[in-house]
Amino acid sequence: MSVITELDQVADELRDADKLLLTTHENPDGDALGSLLGMHLLLSQLEKDPAMFLAADEFPLPHEYRYLPLDGVMNEPPNDLEERLVVFLDCGNIDRMPVAFLRTDGIRIVNVDHHHDNTRFGEVNLVDPSASCTAELVWRLAHELGVAITEPMAEALYVGLVTDTGRFMYRNTGSDAHRMAAELIEAGASPQKVNRQVFESLPFCRLKLLARALARVHRLDAGAITATHLTREDFVDTGSDEHDSEGIVDHLRSVEGTVVAVLVRELLAEERAGLRKVSLRSVDDTVDVSRIARGLGGGGHLQAAGFTTVLPLPELLERLRVEVGEQL
Ligand code: AMP
Ligand code: MN
Ligand code: MN
Repeated sequence: MSVITELDQVADELRDADKLLLTTHENPDGDALGSLLGMHLLLSQLEKDPAMFLAADEFPLPHEYRYLPLDGVMNEPPNDLEERLVVFLDCGNIDRMPVAFLRTDGIRIVNVDHHHDNTRFGEVNLVDPSASCTAELVWRLAHELGVAITEPMAEALYVGLVTDTGRFMYRNTGSDAHRMAAELIEAGASPQKVNRQVFESLPFCRLKLLARALARVHRLDAGAITATHLTREDFVDTGSDEHDSEGIVDHLRSVEGTVVAVLVRELLAEERAGLRKVSLRSVDDTVDVSRIARGLGGGGHLQAAGFTTVLPLPELLERLRVEVGEQL
């Protein structure tokens, strides 16, 4: 099935629906929230009733995204769920939104995403791994549906674009990403404003947490793996929450000789004590980190993937050495 057909199909679904429920993945990032809000604004222009849902425990949202106008997001299932078309954005796998009511029999799901390992869990799927971000798919849908890109929509979609492309530096940055950026800027998005809000308004605790992580960096296999870890104490002592470790792994990737960068952090929630979240980043296509993450119960992109594990740190690192070594 070609991507064009999927775009048409999803556009038809959106056109036909009156009431919708939009959602994304847990621990939402810039693309998740930008796509969610962008789609909300798109459907509002079409005079639909597009509710947005995020679980209550996602709040407060990561500091850098709190400025986005997401006040209308609901944290409870809507009473009229069965009347709503459910639209997942940026979610590769339904398990990344661990909320029971979204698994209710009989609900119709549209799945709009760019993860190459998307499980196609929707009744209708628009899954295009060549898209730089899910926001790009929302942008294409706006064109398909003849919806003008307004300034608030442009701002929201620009956040998804700039975060998922690593500020236009990752391999998913193609000419389409730049064309989209140009159009969003023409529609009123301000790169400088987004940069200030998203990248340069970080709480001070992040710098302290980064310092902890950098102080503990070590390298394995002649530097092929550059790794570090954060403990619960690191988060508590620095006054950080889980979102505050976002971006730390990219510092490790930037070091000469690194093939795979690894950040392991202990999860903070009481019921998740003993679990570790692992973030993997590879520098090029030599190692597909999503394959490693999938083998350990997670997933992601070729160069950015993650999973959660009960493995203790030494075993975990040994496993990663073996897995990376097999692909080298
Ligand atoms: P992170 O390391 O959490 O920033 O995630 C990097 C990429 O991996 C993102 O694109 C996520 O969509 C994906 N990812 C992270 N954790 C998981 C998981 N547990 N299951 C599937 N995909 C994941
Ligand atoms: Mn995402
Ligand atoms: Mn994305």
